[in-house]
Amino acid sequence: MSRSRIVIVGAGFAGYQAARSLSRTVRKHAEIVLLNPTDYFLYLPLLPQVAAGILEPRRVTVSLTGTLPQARLVLGEADGVDLDARRVHYTDPEGNTADLGYDTLILCVGSVSRLLPIPGIAEHARGFRGLPEALYLRDHIVRQLELAAHTEDEDERRARSTFVVVGAGYTGTEVAAHGTLFADAVTRRTRGRRVTPRWMLLDIAPRVLPELDERLSRTADAVLRRRGVDVRTGTSVKEARRGGVLLDDGESVDTRSLIWCVGVRPDPLVADMGLPTERGRLVVDRYLNVPGHPEVFACGDAAAVPDLTKPGEFTPMTAQHAWRQGKTAARNVAAHHGLGERRPYEHHDRGFAVDLGGVQGAANPFHVPLSGPLAGAVTRGYHLLAMPGNRIRVAADWLLEAALPRQAVQLGMVRSGSVPLDTASPELARTPRS
Ligand SMILES: Cc1cc2nc3c(=O)[nH]c(=O)nc-3n(C[C@H](O)[C@H](O)[C@H](O)COP(=O)(O)OP(=O)(O)OC[C@H]3O[C@@H](n4cnc5c(N)ncnc54)[C@H](O)[C@@H]3O)c2cc1C
Repeated sequence: MSRSRIVIVGAGFAGYQAARSLSRTVRKHAEIVLLNPTDYFLYLPLLPQVAAGILEPRRVTVSLTGTLPQARLVLGEADGVDLDARRVHYTDPEGNTADLGYDTLILCVGSVSRLLPIPGIAEHARGFRGLPEALYLRDHIVRQLELAAHTEDEDERRARSTFVVVGAGYTGTEVAAHGTLFADAVTRRTRGRRVTPRWMLLDIAPRVLPELDERLSRTADAVLRRRGVDVRTGTSVKEARRGGVLLDDGESVDTRSLIWCVGVRPDPLVADMGLPTERGRLVVDRYLNVPGHPEVFACGDAAAVPDLTKPGEFTPMTAQHAWRQGKTAARNVAAHHGLGERRPYEHHDRGFAVDLGGVQGAANPFHVPLSGPLAGAVTRGYHLLAMPGNRIRVAADWLLEAALPRQAVQLGMVRSGSVPLDTASPELARTPRS
């Protein structure tokens, strides 16, 4: 086999794992190139803990060059793929454009926040899909509560201390669960007028965590309500305005904080490729291969991977699947290069773990339902094991959190204009130039 080039676009769960596996199997035969806008892998499931001031942002990142020395990192964002010429076109962080030729391509570009056609959402809501948004939210919560404590205007105080989270999937549920604890910790130490933070969690579905086991929903619902979260199921937003939101039941809520967690859609790069898609995800076969293009593979959130355990369905957009699909893609790419046998992707769901902050969690490892501190411990243990690096630093932050009060300062370095909801690059804070 002559030395050829494998280009992996996107270094998230799927891309990182594909690069790691290929580094072990084909590195002597092929050059492995990783194209990603950042020089780190982001462990997204711990992002709510960054927004809640438990983890410092670098804790949830893992250096790509430090942990994948066999792969060549190219910093940049792909903006087009020429399938005939076998070239990926990209823009680097300084705005320069270039091309990257490939023999084999693995697309793992993930997903971005899903917008709904609701007036005012794009302007007034902020998403929760990347590190800049988590940093923004952490600062925003502190800032709103500090401003609320020092205003003489009762209405303004109420609006600034009201936080509305839309979408009660695992992201919205964790944001609200951690958010209440964080806001309470901030207000306990803020001088000025007494501020009582109010958190609302809305979902059009009849229960929180609608995509997970009902027992997990019940646990999460009980914890949220105990903390005073105003959980509104069967409810959505009709309109977002500068100073508040109008709910679909006619109620108007004054707030400066609309946190949009209604789900994700595949990265727009996929739609621009002119290949068949299924609900925006690139269609692949059971070997994660794009039909008609034996040299192109795709996996993770961006790919519609047939779920062999549930015929007729596609695998859900979860880290659990993306991680394993990255491994399968690497195996099948190696087979494409003449090394080993290809294998179809098949994974039986092993349950889910939701961190509810404090010592609380809701989990069902191997479908055994757990709640309370045991679920909390299992969830944190799971994340520590699943992270491909930085485990000691994460554990150290957890220990510090248990021993010390949270640091309630806002650096104000990521402002609302830097994190628009409608973006194809949630991993990057928008700068005035771009
Ligand atoms: C807050 C939050 C919490 C979550 N918690 C859980 C959980 O507890 N359990 C679970 O199973 N799942 C969870 N998920 C879902 C899970 O994170 C995703 O399903 C998973 O990240 C998908 O992996 P991926 O590799 O497809 O995409 P990602 O991990 O998002 O990686 C995509 C990569 O592609 C890069 N990229 C994007 N566009 C381009 C481009 N044009 N060119 C080059 N690179 C590009 C990105 O920078 C990124 O590095 C959570 C998601 C969020 C947002």
